[in-house]
Amino acid sequence: MTDLQNTFSTPNIDVECREVGLRDGLQILQTIFPTDEKLAWIQAEVACGMPEVEVCSFVPPKLLPQFADAADVVEGALKTSGTLISALTPNLRGAQTGFKLGIQKLNYVTSVSVSHNQSNVRRTPDESVADFETIVAERNELPEDQRPILAVGLATTFGCTIEGRVDPKAALELGEKFIKAGVDELVVADTVGYGNPAEVKAVMSEFVQEFGSQVPIANHFHDTRGLGMANVFAALEAGIRRFDASLAGLGGCPYAPNASGNIVMDDLVFLLEGAGLRTGVDLDQLVAIREIVARNLPDEPLYGMYAKAGAPKGFRTASQAA
Ligand code: ZN
Repeated sequence: MTDLQNTFSTPNIDVECREVGLRDGLQILQTIFPTDEKLAWIQAEVACGMPEVEVCSFVPPKLLPQFADAADVVEGALKTSGTLISALTPNLRGAQTGFKLGIQKLNYVTSVSVSHNQSNVRRTPDESVADFETIVAERNELPEDQRPILAVGLATTFGCTIEGRVDPKAALELGEKFIKAGVDELVVADTVGYGNPAEVKAVMSEFVQEFGSQVPIANHFHDTRGLGMANVFAALEAGIRRFDASLAGLGGCPYAPNASGNIVMDDLVFLLEGAGLRTGVDLDQLVAIREIVARNLPDEPLYGMYAKAGAPKGFRTASQAA
């Protein structure tokens, strides 16, 4: 493993957690989360030490009314400090919105599965790479202190609801194209929760071997079939030190009713701290944020075993144990 995998925006941590609940969690919900409550959630994440919060997606409000307030949310979030404020963009237009708002990091997404990319953004993966090249060029024209970090999410790496199994070679080849295009970070995503730990360990070891000396590599797992945390541990063994997760496992899949969403942030922090890996996140403060989600989404199921059971007797976080 290279130093690049252990270099973080936040000091004194061993693993970087990134909260994606405000984006991945909220995007499929019909209930609109009020803007000031989104900001309260973001501020609470910042206060508990979360290294990165993905606050919205830059898509037309007609497509996703949940993000009609993206400009206000980003503007409010950028008033905080100590946490990287990021947003998802599916295309150049969204990236340009992010540039204007002064977003600190953009998470651009392309599916490894051709059919999934076509249905999601109406382009082939290669067309998405070309679009990304333009985003990099436009970013590089900005004054140096205003250039956001450009990450790319490789969606459906571990399988796709349309194509089924996805060849890991296709994911590695697509990753290579984005490296050549100048990406700052690769996020390897199990978008629909098809991955299993054995496969995750094998594929992520290849990613670290191929690209680990060039860019940081992250994982984005969904817990759709209950293997989310096991997949995290497999990725840790492969050398991955960055994970997306969502508070209370908010989210889900529009095509799989009752399927849980992203891996649960609270359980992820519990797993990591218990394994002696410092996250910089205050676990008790993090669990308390669930109240903000609960009061705004009274009809949504909230996931998470740690919040339900509490800390084991005598439990010490990695920092407390050091
Ligand atoms: Zn996701």
